Amino acid sequence: MSAPRSDVMPAGTAVETLPDPMLPSAARLAQVDKETHDTFTLTLDSPANGQPGFAPGQFSMLYVFGAGELPISISGDPGEPERLVYTIRSVGKATHALVTRAPGEYIGVRGPFGTGWPIEEARGKDVVVVAGGIGMAPLRPAIYHILRHRGDFRRLVVLYGARSPRDMLYRKQLAAWGYLPDTQILTTVDYGGLNWRGYVGVVTTLFRYVRLQPDRTVALICGPEIMMRYVTRELESRGVAQQDIYLSMERNMKCAVGFCGHCQFGPYFICKDGPVFPLSKLKPWAGKYEL
Ligand SMILES: Cc1cc2nc3c(=O)[nH]c(=O)nc-3n(C[C@H](O)[C@H](O)[C@H](O)COP(=O)(O)OP(=O)(O)OC[C@H]3O[C@@H](n4cnc5c(N)ncnc54)[C@H](O)[C@@H]3O)c2cc1C
Repeated sequence: MSAPRSDVMPAGTAVETLPDPMLPSAARLAQVDKETHDTFTLTLDSPANGQPGFAPGQFSMLYVFGAGELPISISGDPGEPERLVYTIRSVGKATHALVTRAPGEYIGVRGPFGTGWPIEEARGKDVVVVAGGIGMAPLRPAIYHILRHRGDFRRLVVLYGARSPRDMLYRKQLAAWGYLPDTQILTTVDYGGLNWRGYVGVVTTLFRYVRLQPDRTVALICGPEIMMRYVTRELESRGVAQQDIYLSMERNMKCAVGFCGHCQFGPYFICKDGPVFPLSKLKPWAGKYEL
């Protein structure tokens, strides 16, 4: 089978040099880091025959031999394409099998797939990143990219909500980014506990500490759907246009290349038309029963 041309193929890549998108490449697990009680970051050496590089917001299909294959966003730095980094919350059979692999073992990788965050559209603008829980993982590559190309963007604001302090990803990194110029990092939790000195409340409560200039703001959002609904409402009420609000959507998926139809959402396949969409595209389909 010849490989179909993908939307995310880097310009100038010859079609015949691309691997078959349905065929996993074996990638060696180099490192496993515990982020929280149930979430781990896996670093893989990029497979030699894989597609080079990825765009912030794209995902891979990771295949644990004998356990299953599942979509996982790339959470690493796009400036370091020789390593593929994923942050995975163990919620079931396949994710548990993934996070319990040991360094030196091999994992099947397909991709990267899907649309990325709107890096070009965000150039010259303020970027507001809003994440909930594991939703921080697909947003981290966008933050890495902005920090690597700091002069191309205006203010960077990151609002991050987690269930509790022990569920918060990348805590040290977030704290370090907070000291950078033109960068505002705010975190909040639903339940703080005795030692928590930060904000408590849902992520939308952090907007009161942010000065937004709606006509020059691009917002990138990922988290549970209910959280994304309230965040988009907040941004719209502050005058940010629907085409400047981008969300990363999640649906169960199998093939990741638009063949099987598992991830259909209205007229779109989340795997190839998304997972990142502008709100203006999603709005007509949002709230429709069983969509
Ligand atoms: C484009 C995309 C990117 C993703 N990126 C990441 C990522 O970076 N890190 C990460 O940890 N996960 C990510 N996911 C979710 C991940 O694919 C699922 O958690 C995984 O498929 C669950 O498989 P499992 O066999 O471990 O769990 P299952 O046994 O299938 O499910 C266990 C439990 O989790 C629930 N569940 C399963 N999938 C989801 C889901 N997608 N959303 C909410 N609840 C679910 C089930 O209903 C069940 O209660 C992503 C999903 C998509 C579509």
